[in-house]
Amino acid sequence: MEKNAEKVWSNCLKIIKDIVEWQHYKTWFEPIKPVSIKNSTLVIQVPSQFFFEYLEEHYVNLLAKTLKRELGKDAALEYRVMVDSGNNNNKPMTMDIPGQGFRTYSNNEMDFPLVINNPVKNPFVIPGLKKMQIDPQLNHIYTFDAFIEGDCNRVARRAGKTVAEKPGANSFNPLVLYGGVGLGKTHLAQSIGNEVKRAHPNKVVLYVSSEKFINQFMDHSRNNAINDFIHFYQLIDVLIIDDVQFFAKAEKSQDALFAIFNHLHQSGKQLVLTSDKPPKDLEGVQERLLSRFRWGLSADLQIPDYETRIEILERKMKVDGLEMPKEVVKYIAYNINSNVRELEGALISLLAQSSLNRREIDLDLAKKVLRNFVKSSSKEITIETIQRMVCDYFDVSYDKLLQKTRKREIVQARQITMFLAKAFTKNSLKTIGEHFGGRDHTTVIHSCQTVKDLMDTDSVFRENVLELQQKVQLAAM
Ligand code: ADP
Ligand code: MG
Repeated sequence: MEKNAEKVWSNCLKIIKDIVEWQHYKTWFEPIKPVSIKNSTLVIQVPSQFFFEYLEEHYVNLLAKTLKRELGKDAALEYRVMVDSGNNNNKPMTMDIPGQGFRTYSNNEMDFPLVINNPVKNPFVIPGLKKMQIDPQLNHIYTFDAFIEGDCNRVARRAGKTVAEKPGANSFNPLVLYGGVGLGKTHLAQSIGNEVKRAHPNKVVLYVSSEKFINQFMDHSRNNAINDFIHFYQLIDVLIIDDVQFFAKAEKSQDALFAIFNHLHQSGKQLVLTSDKPPKDLEGVQERLLSRFRWGLSADLQIPDYETRIEILERKMKVDGLEMPKEVVKYIAYNINSNVRELEGALISLLAQSSLNRREIDLDLAKKVLRNFVKSSSKEITIETIQRMVCDYFDVSYDKLLQKTRKREIVQARQITMFLAKAFTKNSLKTIGEHFGGRDHTTVIHSCQTVKDLMDTDSVFRENVLELQQKVQLAAM
């Protein structure tokens, strides 16, 4: 007696439901409709070609096993793929494709001979290539070799190497690399991608900035294609997302990231994330995401120490075939201690000056160039910094400075702070006022005027202000 397709399929689903995680079950199995059974071949209808490919790639073992239980060892599967859903005048268009994976399903490395155009639109697919040959978006200059190790980054670099050797099969999943600007987050994250590609050429690697991810998500969302977007990302073996702090302002994209993260993590795929702060400080990112970011390892990148800075400079010079006196290298390393990007910037300025002026690189030239360089890249001074400096100088407590005290010394310290904040920061009068316990902009104008007047009439006061001015100036260099 011929078994009924509905019945066979619902028996299969009972088993599948127990094995596959709920979210995946909903995504990949609920939409399937059993159509018919011919001999031992079950025909199932699936919503798209992409869907068919995905099932064949990820669930062929499971499908084969459950179906063989129902229909015996000759069981086979055929997909009826919806090509066009039709309308009142036209019947839906479908295409029947025999399941490819059934005969050889014990072989995990199989490469299905599918000649199907990739129906998922995404910017990473190289047209004309097979479906998963996506451009990993990696820059080959970023390698572990080129990434100098020091105390500042040892844990992060080593964890990165482990991840690259055994993507997905290590306890650093996700690996979160965090640290300030220019400290090597992108470099290290890209090194992982490049190394995976070198050691495991078959792995699907993708590097994507958070902005790009979020923009793509919004495009897909406008086109009602969020599922395609999520499915695409779920096919990746090593997903690297740079600067996840940008998700803070993208609530909807966080949901997509959550779905993708779960799927990849559960399927033993590797995630690498970078962030400008530790995950716990990522305000505006859902707690359920943050808790997952903490599943693996969070490793920080610090400012390299002097020796490491010298090594980094020497390495860059070697790569570019440059030479310069050791004392110059030391001078740069000593004076530029903010981050690695600035260090490289200083080196480039020096080279440019040397070739423009046809002048050998020596300490004199280095001093000249760095003087300008330091000025142009001077630190942003904040209102808080100035407040602290003034408090220190007059030995006034920070709280008192902000309160409404009318004591003369404190009023004057407060007025000087406002005056300096106006001179040394780009903040508006309104913002400055807000930093002093919510005073309004007219108070700030009045303070600045008072300071100027007092400087003309009171020489001690004038000395104080000038000295403070100098201190702030120094701090800004
Ligand atoms: P981030 O992404 O943290 O802002 P990047 O990865 O873009 O920083 O690094 C800035 C520059 O500094 C890059 O050119 C990078 O190659 C270089 N860099 C950072 N850290 C190192 C290091 N440890 N060794 C060599 N180069 C480094
Ligand atoms: Mg970066």
